[in-house]
Amino acid sequence: MKPTKKIWFDGQMVPWDEAKVHVLTHALHYGYSIFEGIRANSTPKGPAIFRLKEHIKRMGMGARAYRMQLPYTEEQLTQGCLNLVRENGLNDCYIRPIMFSSYGEMGVNPMKNKVIGAIAAWEWGSYLGDEGMEKGIRCTVSSWARIDPRTLPPHAKCSANYANSILAKMDALSSGFDEAIMLTTSGLVGEGSGENIFRVKDGILTTPTKTAGVLEGITRDSVIQIAKDNGIPFKEEDFLREDLYSADELFLCGTAANVTPIREIDNRVIGDGKFPMTKKIQQTYLDAIHGKIPKYEAWLSYASTPTIYSKGKP
Ligand code: PMP
Repeated sequence: MKPTKKIWFDGQMVPWDEAKVHVLTHALHYGYSIFEGIRANSTPKGPAIFRLKEHIKRMGMGARAYRMQLPYTEEQLTQGCLNLVRENGLNDCYIRPIMFSSYGEMGVNPMKNKVIGAIAAWEWGSYLGDEGMEKGIRCTVSSWARIDPRTLPPHAKCSANYANSILAKMDALSSGFDEAIMLTTSGLVGEGSGENIFRVKDGILTTPTKTAGVLEGITRDSVIQIAKDNGIPFKEEDFLREDLYSADELFLCGTAANVTPIREIDNRVIGDGKFPMTKKIQQTYLDAIHGKIPKYEAWLSYASTPTIYSKGKP
């Protein structure tokens, strides 16, 4: 990780090295934190954060599911992200807001502890690699099932939920694969450990339904919009493990991973090893996040204009 100058820490910009917490911070012990993964990308009008409003809203929804009271308004968090990118002089970067139960009482119950927020931003290339984005990656179906909606709220980006992803990711990597695909507890295809999955068969694009318990990805939503705008037949539809093997194309998508083709699953080559529809969607998505498609301009929040605060902390 390449440090930047400042981190937004409980409403103040502090030097990177000074954004610290106590080892007895509640969230460190029980995973009670809600976070986001956002990107800013270079555009002809300077760095622009992609779908910032939707990311901040999702954090609020996750906090509600987990009964966490956020001590900041959506506006404060929005401006915090924009100011952070600008004040660090960043262009293409990843932005990580996190809201967590802080130091105070120990024990499972977090309700007596203050919730504190931080936002950090740093340069981070494509999560599954540039080569992966170009040539496709190798995946395996994990023996770990995706968290069940009866166990944890799957639409919330709560740190505790990610113990599930961590197990699947470590197993996939130690078996020589790039990423894990997790099935739901009822055996349907869920998603990657940090990405949503799409399938192309006979010219039709599909992705598992939200009720399968996948994260409601913002890239997923953008891909669906791009498909519809480009006349690509699309269905939100659950599918089975064997449908992975019979696909013409498969791809993963997420803020960190962008749109990454899957070239093999469980050592089976997908389709003919070319991914024409995936490449078309990938290119359109990359053009959209880099401000090259006027139609998608509404998805961008430009970081170049400083914000004047009316009162209080940023
Ligand atoms: N699924 C999981 C489990 C994730 O962690 C992510 C990354 N946030 C995604 C899907 C993709 O979501 P998004 O497109 O909003 O980044």
